[in-house]
Amino acid sequence: MTGTLTIAGLGPGDDAMVTPEVTAALAAATDIVGYGPYVARVAPREGLTLHPSDNRVELQRASAALRLASDGRHVVVVSSGDPGVFAMASAVFEALEEKSQWQALSIRVLPGVTAMLAAAARAGAPLGHDFCAINLSDNLKPWTVIEKRLRLAAEADFAIAMYNPRSASRPEGFARALQILNEAGCGERLAIFARAVSTPEERIETVSLRDARPEMADMRTLVIVGNSSTRRVGRFVYAPRQVR
Ligand code: SAH
Repeated sequence: MTGTLTIAGLGPGDDAMVTPEVTAALAAATDIVGYGPYVARVAPREGLTLHPSDNRVELQRASAALRLASDGRHVVVVSSGDPGVFAMASAVFEALEEKSQWQALSIRVLPGVTAMLAAAARAGAPLGHDFCAINLSDNLKPWTVIEKRLRLAAEADFAIAMYNPRSASRPEGFARALQILNEAGCGERLAIFARAVSTPEERIETVSLRDARPEMADMRTLVIVGNSSTRRVGRFVYAPRQVR
């Protein structure tokens, strides 16, 4: 087996946020595998085959990538942001668990700038103290787990980064998430809505959680709810380094 499999993060959108390590891996690739819009971020060239696929077929996509690598290809599986954050790296390892003969392949994971970090940097430093990240999609876990984690994160006074807040197929989940956080006493906390960070459509909006409306988020939005000390200074939002 002389093929290789690289699982790479393309960052939040801007080419300037693709790491040099990922750029080098893309330049050496024979095949790019991933969700269509992410594969479209890789420039076509001779000798490079693009394999775009649909969003919900992560495991098949991971197996297809491993199969190509075992045929001797140099495959890069692309994710947006970081490939280990609610993305393809876990799917590849799940596929690897199923087929032990692929475990001899040369596999590496290359980090990328995840949406939460790009959004936090735009806002200031809302993740400057303890924080957690929650995926609000209930495709791969029951909604009861999401609710429990939101409640406990609020109680623990973590800043909370919320990925996949709201899609057309799940419009009610984010409204419920806001309600849970309000009921947990977070109404005065700052909520940052960071949409399409580092793209021409970027928009950053900060409101008190009690004024947040579900329509303020879509699938291109990352929402950060500050902890109880998070505050504004000028146009910035930050979490102080010390908590009483
Ligand atoms: N692996 C990705 C996350 C994939 S889940 C990463 O590390 O960033 C997809 C979710 O990420 C979106 O619903 C949104 O919440 C967030 N996201 C991805 N790119 C974004 C961007 N440029 N601006 C704001 N949020 C983004």
